[in-house]
Amino acid sequence: MILGVAGPYGAGKGEAVAFLAARSFYALSLSDVIRDELRERGLDETRERMIETGNALRAAGGPAVLAERLLSRMLPDRNYVIDSIRHPAEVTALRATARGFRLLWIDAAEDTRVVRLRRRGRGGDPTTLETLRALEGRELGSDDPAAQQLLAVRELADVRLRNDSGITDLHARLQEVLAQGLAFERPGWDEYFMSIARMVASRSNCVKRKVGAVIARDRRIISTGYNGTPRGTRNCNEGGCPRCNSFAEGGTRLDECLCSHGEENAITQAAYHGVSVRGGTIYSTFCPCLTCTKMIINAGLAEVVWSADYPLGEVSLGLLREAGLEVRQLDGGSRLDPGRGGW
Ligand SMILES: [Zn+2]
Ligand SMILES: [Zn+2]
Repeated sequence: MILGVAGPYGAGKGEAVAFLAARSFYALSLSDVIRDELRERGLDETRERMIETGNALRAAGGPAVLAERLLSRMLPDRNYVIDSIRHPAEVTALRATARGFRLLWIDAAEDTRVVRLRRRGRGGDPTTLETLRALEGRELGSDDPAAQQLLAVRELADVRLRNDSGITDLHARLQEVLAQGLAFERPGWDEYFMSIARMVASRSNCVKRKVGAVIARDRRIISTGYNGTPRGTRNCNEGGCPRCNSFAEGGTRLDECLCSHGEENAITQAAYHGVSVRGGTIYSTFCPCLTCTKMIINAGLAEVVWSADYPLGEVSLGLLREAGLEVRQLDGGSRLDPGRGGW
């Protein structure tokens, strides 16, 4: 779960972040990116400087730059709450990249907020209605696309909470948001297995191409394989396969290639452990070649799923269908010319 928190001064964002941080959320703030920038430049932190530096960073790196820098630090296995979202482009960037991102907008009446800010007593905070309005006037909206635009952020909120009646009520409302499971998402099976296949591919020792395959049965992984030279022989990247190391043109000198394919290795890996792949699904990051296609059919696999970028050869496709296998290419369709996709 990744929750963004936005709202005007004194609305209760800090309380919301603290509540979530006590419930397994890692608290991050877009302001931390600006603080890091000030520290790197050896400057002290003041509110003016924070606003100016934030605007300067957005002007130089695009309006979503703070969110993008923060996203690069986030890990996929954690819940996060992100504070200090002040520009609609930040919301768009977080929504596009962070799985299950939801934006909470927290608001309260102006005079309530002034009382809270006075009580908080943080240097530089506005403590009268006039100074609050003057400060917020600059932040709510601007013709400068790099400046803060809180009103536009509010429009993008998935949930809007009023926080006029105290912290107990705020906590109850936040508890409701969590209980709704509103922000909870996880990858579907195809994405899950294919992303693991991509990780498997990263172990490949072949200098020409990295391919990974995962065989799943009843939605459990029973085997994996990546391409490379056979067990106990010199790795392709250490000169083990002369054909790969001469970077032969795709489709030529295939009979000299010493590298096994990812799909082939997933099937032989199962054989190595005496596990039947019959009735299973093979996920491959690349389209199976004709040899692998024949092995897939004869090993008894029931389904072939391969990743978006590569077209499966007509002969392989026809053979798989004739043998009664399900064949699916994950989203995207053919983007590469078949002539350039070959081994
Ligand atoms: Zn190789
Ligand atoms: Zn193959």
